Amino acid sequence: MYDLLIKGVRRLTDSESIDIGIKQDRIVAIGSISDSALKTIDGKGRVVLPPYVESHIHLDTALTCGFPAFNQSGELFEGIKLWNEYRQTMTEKEVTSRALDVIRTMAGQGVLFMRSMVDVSDPNLIALKALLQVKKQVAPFMALQLVAFPQSGLSSQAGREQLDQAIALGIDGISAVPHLEPTREKGVASLVYCFQRAQESNCFLHIFCDEIDDLQSRYLEVVADLAYESGLKERVTVSHLNAMSYYNEAYVRKVISLVKRAEINVVTAPLISSVMQGRLDSWPKGRGITRVKDLHEAGVPVAIAHDDFLSPFYPLGTGSLLNACHMLIHLAHMTGLDDFQDVFEMITSTPAKILNIDNYGIKKGCLANLLLVTASDAHDLIRRQPVAEVVISQGHIIAETPLQQTVLHVADTLKLNDEKLDFV
Ligand SMILES: [Zn+2]
Repeated sequence: MYDLLIKGVRRLTDSESIDIGIKQDRIVAIGSISDSALKTIDGKGRVVLPPYVESHIHLDTALTCGFPAFNQSGELFEGIKLWNEYRQTMTEKEVTSRALDVIRTMAGQGVLFMRSMVDVSDPNLIALKALLQVKKQVAPFMALQLVAFPQSGLSSQAGREQLDQAIALGIDGISAVPHLEPTREKGVASLVYCFQRAQESNCFLHIFCDEIDDLQSRYLEVVADLAYESGLKERVTVSHLNAMSYYNEAYVRKVISLVKRAEINVVTAPLISSVMQGRLDSWPKGRGITRVKDLHEAGVPVAIAHDDFLSPFYPLGTGSLLNACHMLIHLAHMTGLDDFQDVFEMITSTPAKILNIDNYGIKKGCLANLLLVTASDAHDLIRRQPVAEVVISQGHIIAETPLQQTVLHVADTLKLNDEKLDFV
């Protein structure tokens, strides 16, 4: 007797119909199942997917767009100024409410794992204290990792002390923003400090790296070398790497080989990068994205994140990782048939490895975290971005979204003789 039985679904890359038996929080059987269950879901031939994994978001800045003012220039520095103003009025209750709103929205879309940045430049660490509580509150259905993000840098004594305080309060990961430090030397020093604290505290590293359209910004080589020399390797993730799109080819080859040697991970955020980068270029303007295709082809784990959600840095965002994939496909020129499956893995299995998630996937013995979606393959999934009709977390149905149906009242006048038009 199963607790939950899903009948008649198929995998994204396979046409074979399967049933999935779940007991408590685990997948215990996959195949053709005739046993009974406390609850049975009719899969209706839909696709079963592992949950989406958000590898880089800012829950503390989410839903603050327009307060105290809209970012009119769209530039990072106006975003930072607005955020610093907003921070003065922030309360734990208000941060909690916004974070839970985003988590509800994204869980309903099938995101069951999330890594959120938390700005620790605030001396009172209000957002951090709020999000540490949120993490506990959502744990029954979502695994939330928190990263201490020093928006104002680590050059000052205060910046370093606040990072240390975040570690003492139980943060999971720590970060640095070397390209925003006053000098190259201070940028390198911030990375050395961050690596040292990671080793002492057992935190993982998630570095904001070269998020600037400046070909002179070369911190990726420093991170890669520190990761290799320290042995921290896959516990190190770098996000953005926008400067790489301006590097010369010889240097790109060198730096990708360093990244490969270090076994570090990359996270790209195509939604925010598409609008924030390239602003100061003369025409032709950069595409705003790092060298995803080259990194992927070199075997570097690359994940796609949604990142900013209605914040002073990005005025849009729905929480949809499929939307982020759709943008990546455009910006990274990844439109080959195989690319769609590869890009789908950038929001599922690859970030699952980066976040070090155990028992992830649709296999016997894995945690019963599953989505049911109407799609034929990864190409169709990313093109149409369909809703997750059923979201199952640890064996429990936590969200259901019925498919919308359009009734076309002019259908008869659009008939082409007796031919059936059925390709959309
Ligand atoms: Zn970010």
